[in-house]
This record gives sequence, C-alpha cells and structure tokens, in this order.
Amino acid sequence: MMKGVLLPGNKKVLIEEFPIPKPKENEVLVKIKSSAICRSDLSLYYGDAVVQGDKAGKVITGHEPSGFVHSIGRNVKHIKEGDRVAIYLAIGCGHCKYCYQGSFHLCDKWECLGFTVDGGNAEYCVVPANNVLKVPNTMSFNEAAFSTDKFGTLYSAAKKLNVSGSGVIGVFGMGPMGASGVVVSKNMGATVVAIDIESSRRDFAKSLGADYVLDSSDENFIDQVMSITNNNGFDYAMDCSGNTHAHNAALNSLAKFGSLIMIGENSSTTINPSDQLIRKQTSIIGSWYFDINEFDEILDFIITKKIDLNKLISKKFTLDQAEQAFMEFDQRKISTAIFEIE
Ligand SMILES: [Zn+2]
Ligand SMILES: [Zn+2]
Repeated sequence: MMKGVLLPGNKKVLIEEFPIPKPKENEVLVKIKSSAICRSDLSLYYGDAVVQGDKAGKVITGHEPSGFVHSIGRNVKHIKEGDRVAIYLAIGCGHCKYCYQGSFHLCDKWECLGFTVDGGNAEYCVVPANNVLKVPNTMSFNEAAFSTDKFGTLYSAAKKLNVSGSGVIGVFGMGPMGASGVVVSKNMGATVVAIDIESSRRDFAKSLGADYVLDSSDENFIDQVMSITNNNGFDYAMDCSGNTHAHNAALNSLAKFGSLIMIGENSSTTINPSDQLIRKQTSIIGSWYFDINEFDEILDFIITKKIDLNKLISKKFTLDQAEQAFMEFDQRKISTAIFEIE
C-alpha cells in the first residue's frame, strides 16, 4: 500500500492508503520523491477546480512530481528502471493535431495528472511512458519537480514574449509563477521589475535577482515605472496574479506596442480597451504550461545558465504534513511549497 493526498473541497485534506498501481504495457511506475504544490491545487482545495471542472477532484492530487522509474510496462523501450524523471502533467489522445505538435494540454480529450487521473502527491504514480521527462543525474528531485510547471511554464511564456536583453519586463504577482518569471526573464537578459503588494514577496523577488521591486498599489506606481524605463513603460509584462487590479496596472504601465502575457487564472476581469489596447497598439497573449517538446530546451536553459531552482523553494513538507502545507500555502505565508517523499 502507499499514501496519497486527496483534496475533496471545503479545505479538507485527506491522507489515505491506496494499492501501489501496476504499469500497463505502455506505462511507467514512478517512485515519487518530490511533488510541488501549485496555486491551481487550491482550486481543488476549495472545491472549484480550475481545469476539467466537475470531472476533477476525485483522484490523488499533485501535478508537478518527480522521482525515479520503479518499473516499466513491456512495450516501454526508451526509459529504464532507475532513470530520474519529472512528469508532464497532460495526458493527450496521442493522435490529434495538438498532440502531434506536443501540446497534450490542448488536446480535446486530455486528462490532467492530479485533477482527473491519480497524481504525484503520493509514494508512487503510474503514467503513460510518453509523459515521463528524463532529467540528468546532477539534478535533484526537488529541482526536477520545479523544472516543469513552476519553471517550464514561465520559460514558455517568456519565449512567447520574445524577452531579450534590450527590454524591461514587469512581472506582476510574486507567487510561484511570478518568482519563476523573475528568474527566467533575468536569465534571458532583461531588466526585471517585480511587482507585488506584499513587502515580504517583494523581498523574495529581490533575493531572486529582480533589478527593481515595486508595489502596484502605491499611488506613484506609474511614475516609478516611467522613471525606470526612461518614460517608455514596460516592453513586456507578465501577469501571474490573475487579479483585475494587476491587469490594469500592467496595461497602464505597458509601453506603446508592448505585450502583456496572462498566466494567472481568472474567469473574468475589467479593462479599458480604448486607452490600454487600441490607442497604444498593445497585445494581450494567453499562455498555459508548455509543449512537451519544449522540455529539452527548458533543461538546457536551466543547466547552461546554472539556474539554482532550489532558491525558488520556500518550504518543504512531508506527505503527513499535507494539511499544514495547503493551509500555509493558501494563507500566502509561503510563496512556494514542495513535498519531499521517502
Ligand atoms: Zn502547477
Ligand atoms: Zn490529442
């Protein structure tokens, strides 16, 4: 038997015993060693899943795990027992145009680890062999877990923005995604302005290498952005908060022809298209996770830039501390959290 964490809603956290699953012919059983908590897990914690709606929430949680291959199905050739792996969260049908291009998360028939199929907040997890992402032995399990949704998502977003050394980026919201956004943008060479209304989160951003930190609730916020950017405004902005106030602060501080990428989830917001989009000819882009075939370049980026993903980890928990972990994460006492699993 093995332990697994369920989030049935209403802030309930259950740690239950499950049989250790067996891999079918095209599957891999992973012994989980690390599993990162994500803001999207809180939608399960509250009982209002942000992906897959009512279908979600009945399985073991955790969509950002890593570990080593325990055993493989008989058709699996490209991976062997003992390999260190992270797990790609989206399981696609395998034969639609989105699956062919590596966007399993855009497949109409996709299943999501930790939302609709058993995930990685457990001692073991079985996944299709196509979903295991091999990582080098020099990478710790915690770093491997952080390399996917935490880091890879922001890498993919920064690529869509064409972040470069000549630009200034405003990153709004210093939770797990914003913190990674700072590290990615800095390593792509940009001047990085980290924005959060909480001073402890601004300090965290500073420790991660942000060139400037600002509070968007400050009445002089736009003036401060203009003085940093030689009166142009941000070349690019990333919203990692999903918050309407931040959407407006981002669009108001964006340069003409600038781009805002939205990563933080929200089902509605209010903006001013005339002043913020049309008159400034700005763009808004959405971005979600990354294509599975981008993972190699994500790893290359982490390794060649010598990025220490451990710096992004605020607190470590055991599976038995799951209730405490989700409570502290929900109360924003910590920016990021990870389960270390024996
Ligand atoms: Zn996540
Ligand atoms: Zn598909």
